[in-house]
Amino acid sequence: MAESGVKITVLGSGTSTGVPTIGCHCDVCTSADPRDKRLRPSILVSYGGRHVLIDATPDFRAQALRTGFERLDAILITHEHADHIMGLDDVRPFNFRQRARIPIYASERTMGAIHRVFRYIFDGDEKATAVPQLDSHTIDGDAFDLFGVEFTPVPLLHGNAPIYGFRFGKAAYLTDHSEIPAASLDLLRGLDVLFLDALRYKPHPTHSTVDQSIRTVEMLAPRRAFFTHIGHDLGHARAESLLPPHIRLAYDGLELLAL
Ligand SMILES: [Zn+2]
Ligand SMILES: [Zn+2]
Ligand SMILES: [Zn+2]
Repeated sequence: MAESGVKITVLGSGTSTGVPTIGCHCDVCTSADPRDKRLRPSILVSYGGRHVLIDATPDFRAQALRTGFERLDAILITHEHADHIMGLDDVRPFNFRQRARIPIYASERTMGAIHRVFRYIFDGDEKATAVPQLDSHTIDGDAFDLFGVEFTPVPLLHGNAPIYGFRFGKAAYLTDHSEIPAASLDLLRGLDVLFLDALRYKPHPTHSTVDQSIRTVEMLAPRRAFFTHIGHDLGHARAESLLPPHIRLAYDGLELLAL
């Protein structure tokens, strides 16, 4: 763990459709509060001049331009749903700038899906045009080192699908999940910052809700928690006013240090 901790930048805090949702005229989708404008869910973890991306959303290009990071050292993918992988083609400018391949980490199942969806990236055929240059690293439950920080995969259940969250130092990012298996709870003690899925108030078969994630925070007792993967049922200001002060809603562009 870098002694100075890591910086986390929320690139997107929205659910799979983004907020506003196309064609929706609800109070949140038409809100003037910039915190109610949510691109698809992703964070950037920065330390020692390195930038590690967790999930490459369909909004990745816009997120990179808005945030202004100009190098990318590794990509971690939590699972293969479209809102988490469809930005992978847009990492090409980082290959060009860095004149280097970029490692991508995912479970065997997720990596298999990525290779099917983006067959042209991985098929090894000669191309007339540039494709992303990615080196695939399949991960299981074992922690792995990236540039001096240990990343620990945290098994989660997203409906029936096994996916990974990630712990790094005293921070953890747990997007899409409906259940945190008991064996994973011990990986989540002593946290400064915990990100949790909190799609909406009503129950959902594959996502955690506000109440469920509040209970997770009470159980794990991180110093601070941020809810993400947020749908248009939650307006930022009102939803936050109903939460205890150590639990906040993430919003696009939020930056914080995890120590
Ligand atoms: Zn998602
Ligand atoms: Zn709406
Ligand atoms: Zn998902």
